[in-house]
Amino acid sequence: MAERRCQGVGAAPGIAIGRVFRYTAMAAVPDPELIKEEAVEPEVARLRAAIEIARARMMSARVAAARSGGDEADIFDAHLLMLDDPALIGESERRIREDHLPAANAVAAAAAGVRQLFDQIEDAYLRERAADVTEVATQVMRALRGDTPPSAARTLPPDTVIVAEELFASDVALLDTGRVVALVTVRGSRTSHVAIMARAVGLPVVSGVADIVALAQDGEVVTVDGERGEVVLSPDPRTLETVQEQLAAERQAQARRTQLRDVPAVTDDGTRVALLANIGAPGEVEAALNQGAEGIGLFRTEFLFLERDELPGEIEQFRTYQEIAKGMGERPVVIRTLDVGGDKPVPGVSVADEMNPFLGVRGLRLSLRHPEIFRTQLRAILRAATEGDIWVMFPMVTTIEDVRAARVVLGSLVAELRAKGIPHRADIPVGIMIEVPAAAMNADRLIEEVDFFSIGTNDLAQYVLAVDRTNELLASNYSPLDVSMLRLIERTVSAAVAVGKPVAVCGELAGDPEAIPLLIGLGLRELSMAATSIPRAKEIIRGLRARDEAQKARARIA
Ligand code: PEP
Ligand code: MG
Repeated sequence: MAERRCQGVGAAPGIAIGRVFRYTAMAAVPDPELIKEEAVEPEVARLRAAIEIARARMMSARVAAARSGGDEADIFDAHLLMLDDPALIGESERRIREDHLPAANAVAAAAAGVRQLFDQIEDAYLRERAADVTEVATQVMRALRGDTPPSAARTLPPDTVIVAEELFASDVALLDTGRVVALVTVRGSRTSHVAIMARAVGLPVVSGVADIVALAQDGEVVTVDGERGEVVLSPDPRTLETVQEQLAAERQAQARRTQLRDVPAVTDDGTRVALLANIGAPGEVEAALNQGAEGIGLFRTEFLFLERDELPGEIEQFRTYQEIAKGMGERPVVIRTLDVGGDKPVPGVSVADEMNPFLGVRGLRLSLRHPEIFRTQLRAILRAATEGDIWVMFPMVTTIEDVRAARVVLGSLVAELRAKGIPHRADIPVGIMIEVPAAAMNADRLIEEVDFFSIGTNDLAQYVLAVDRTNELLASNYSPLDVSMLRLIERTVSAAVAVGKPVAVCGELAGDPEAIPLLIGLGLRELSMAATSIPRAKEIIRGLRARDEAQKARARIA
């Protein structure tokens, strides 16, 4: 076989060399042959049995995902709920009974109907849910046809590269990563659940490789570069040698970083930097500790509120916060209060249709307009704070009045808990996200009102640059290292340093290899990032001289 190079999109980083295994069980549903009246009930029964098989597979995927840390397990909770959804399952049954469709076609038709509804919504977050519908429907169709998921192929030899039209998060969760070394798909993207799952388990993925299933032969040698999106089928000896060298270098770098786990992040000239983790669920605590996190710099509490029918109560929240604090021992845990709004709707909270949800009722603005939600969450935080070193943080703060209003609520709850004799931490450190330009401009005044700052560069950049952070068309305009950003970060850091209060960055910039030297140069000594970014960040910091970086940063913003 001659060498063939294929270009796709790098969806999960890493380099792999292996042999092709084509997973083709996902062929399209054949045109339906209508079933007879007497076959209707048995067909409905067959559908129900398939749903139970799909349910069992999703539960195993959920368990496997939870074991690997990460909040990926939440993906399957959402899928499990869909298995009981009348719009999908009830509609499938109706189509068998009334239209006499075979079960697989009935499910395909019902799923198409639900997806059509989603497609009419101009909202990236909800459009993602359309992909979930496809996944759930596909799981049921696989079960109906007796297709097994790729993980069930017991004969997979070591170093297998799975090549498929499309794969799903549950496929990845159940794969034996001791034998599968990479995934290549025709469909899928960087932000798909497959990519997120694969990153969590360290599996390289290239998506968007047209015709790869037809081009590749089972058993042929293939190299995969999940960073550059390159796939080479039957590489010639020179190509293979190059990739082998890259793979060896990557393994060496990984081993080097693992050794760094228990050493502190200190620059070459002795400046200590604290590296913390951003998490979205208690299941991620273990992974954070494994990567050497010195605390949780941002716990996004949204997961407690999304993808469910009713609001989480005080006890449920209290237990979640307590679990995280216990898991982290003496290390600090910054809990951010609910940060949702028009862009991420929460069940049980009515938000008016907004023309510009990112400029609308979100974050603290929403909490202050829904005192019951806010008070329940703060009570749970205050109570859990007796357990570890919990700090509380408010998102989307714009003015001093915002902070004062939030503190009034917090103060009244402390008084209430005290009066009732319920254990709590009255002197919990209170901080704010600096992610609105107004807050950055007024940092010197805001710092008087709070105990710490954490700079949310993701939102700060979208507001400073007037670029919607979710708009793919503007991706090249989203430049979070623009001088305007550096100036606002510098201003914020100086305000906090001047009064000796902590200031961190918890946006994506904190873990960005290009940004880290600049942030150190701007005076940051605390960075909070995805746990998996910590080892690399540490390596970068240990190779810097803080004094040189300060000079370079000053020159950049002058
Ligand atoms: C930010 O805006 O930088 C941030 C950390 O918060 P989120 O990404 O959750 O909006
Ligand atoms: Mg934000």
